[in-house]
Amino acid sequence: MLLKKEREEIVRYGKKMLTANLTTGTGGNLSIADRQKKYMAISPSGVDYTEMKPEDVVILDGKGQIAEGDCKPSSELNFHLAIYRRRPEIKAVVHTHSVYATTIACLHRELPAVHYLVGFSGKKVPLAPYATFGTEELARSVAENIADYNALLLANHGLVAVGHNIAHAFAVAEEIELVARIWYQTRCAGGGRIIPDEEMERVLEKFKTYGQK
Ligand code: 13P
Ligand code: ZN
Repeated sequence: MLLKKEREEIVRYGKKMLTANLTTGTGGNLSIADRQKKYMAISPSGVDYTEMKPEDVVILDGKGQIAEGDCKPSSELNFHLAIYRRRPEIKAVVHTHSVYATTIACLHRELPAVHYLVGFSGKKVPLAPYATFGTEELARSVAENIADYNALLLANHGLVAVGHNIAHAFAVAEEIELVARIWYQTRCAGGGRIIPDEEMERVLEKFKTYGQK
């Protein structure tokens, strides 16, 4: 079986998306890239995360052709591939429909630096204009708009988070959902002061040495 560990991680983090309230039903999808072997493992389309098994995960080669797997791959396969092509340092992609990030995306607003944890994305979370789910148009727009951020809001749809491994991409999705919730609530309360750019630069520097590295 190709990419056994990655398949297991996709199943595990899919369940975590549900328990962390980052998605509902079969919404969202996840992938992990093996840059050396030039394979990508991606969640199957429309399969309940509570029932997903490692053998349901689909393995694609560098050209986007199925290398192993009986299930149909995620309908968002094209934007996962487009991100990996555009960002060689990225090794995992997590797409969610988390409620507060999606709320901001439905307002067609970017998520500004209302809390320093927006640094999980960069100085902000940009917004990609609306495009139908699963289309080439959405894939092009995602790859273009995510630029050098680690998160992107998809208008009238949800959130895409990327990372150097699946734990990192998942943490980006989780922390950005928290910041989106804080932004929504501070706006509802009539406030929401934004951290200046130069302070966010300081935060991003400090992030590089944060934790037990
Ligand atoms: P899949 O089940 O095909 O991955 O689609 C879910 C989704 O979120 C589409 O944007
Ligand atoms: Zn979606």
